[in-house]
Amino acid sequence: MRYDFVVVGSGIAGLSVSHMLAERGYKVALVGIPELTSIVASSSSGILTYHMPEPFISWAFETLKYYLRLEDSIIEVVDSLWFSREFMFMSSVVNKLLEEGVKAKYVSIDYAREFLGNIKLFDDENIVHIEGYRINIKRLIDTLITKIRELNVEVKSRWGNITMEGVRVGNDIIRGDIIVAAGPWSIDLVETQNIIVYRCQAVRLEEPRINVMVIDDTIGYYVNKAYDNTIALGDGIKLVVNRPEEALKPDDSITIEVLERARKRGLISKYKIAYIASAPCVGTGDSYPLVGRLREGLYILTAFDGVGFSIAPALASMLVDYIDKGSKLPLEADPLRKISSREPIEPID
Ligand SMILES: Cc1cc2nc3c(=O)[nH]c(=O)nc-3n(C[C@H](O)[C@H](O)[C@H](O)COP(=O)(O)OP(=O)(O)OC[C@H]3O[C@@H](n4cnc5c(N)ncnc54)[C@H](O)[C@@H]3O)c2cc1C
Repeated sequence: MRYDFVVVGSGIAGLSVSHMLAERGYKVALVGIPELTSIVASSSSGILTYHMPEPFISWAFETLKYYLRLEDSIIEVVDSLWFSREFMFMSSVVNKLLEEGVKAKYVSIDYAREFLGNIKLFDDENIVHIEGYRINIKRLIDTLITKIRELNVEVKSRWGNITMEGVRVGNDIIRGDIIVAAGPWSIDLVETQNIIVYRCQAVRLEEPRINVMVIDDTIGYYVNKAYDNTIALGDGIKLVVNRPEEALKPDDSITIEVLERARKRGLISKYKIAYIASAPCVGTGDSYPLVGRLREGLYILTAFDGVGFSIAPALASMLVDYIDKGSKLPLEADPLRKISSREPIEPID
């Protein structure tokens, strides 16, 4: 059987691109198990992340609009995200947030301390307090599964392999243009030098004093310059730690090390771990996503650095416009931007 597109991978990228293509009338097969079985998706904190530079911040708002179009209840408002970053960077983020109707304001350290109790969050004065959004991941995935089924997307709940003839699922070959949306596994399916895999961890702490917060004491969330980033998101009890090395090893020591560092710096007074979830995240060498055509009949769609729920649907829409209308892709997303020889890349069987 021949489809217009065979999408490999059923995380948020694969589900949203399947949905958008089917809405435009394409005949789509989705290879992957479209439930909340992805360890990456099920570990996600689901914060709509937008403390990032243009154009990513716009992609987060496009994604938000897409989720609201699907179903209002996918998005919940959280009243307390805290950021501290370099002033110029933050002013452009805050201006953009205000333009989009998000409540965001600069606050004093005293205000932040009062709000957050005895947690010493920030060393500098560029503190921004934002009313942000949390994505209800389970509801989102369930809604997308229902929608793609209504649009007659053929779901092959199996693992697939890319071959020269198409995607092999068991003994069947599913033919069509292929879209690789396999998250961290994309690197196994197509050869591109531009994907790296690292580990994201979520820690559930029994520490009621940690409010929703982001600690970002590095050059940027999305530039793992020092390979020593500390990123903390919490909803009162949850802390997320991203460290790029040793992506696939189930080793909790890094999380504990980061928690200890946070304790020694006075960020948290004590902690008791309820659980640690560890999952691979996909990133690119230059911290940008990969969206577009690798060669005739082979496309790729990855988010980057663990913000897939915030931007993957916007990237999917970009890919669909590229396919459907021939729209240009921004250079930041071009999957060939880093590959020195522009020879076609053959898929690995
Ligand atoms: C701890 C943690 C916290 C996070 N917090 C946030 C957050 O607050 N906000 C945010 O926006 N993002 C967050 N993220 C990131 C977000 O979860 C990911 O970026 C997003 O889930 C990636 O989606 P994806 O569809 O690209 O990949 P995935 O969700 O990894 O989906 C890829 C799918 O492809 C399948 N697959 C792979 N190979 C094949 C094959 N050969 N055949 C069939 N199927 C295949 C896999 O099983 C998987 O289901 C977090 C991630 C982690 C780990």
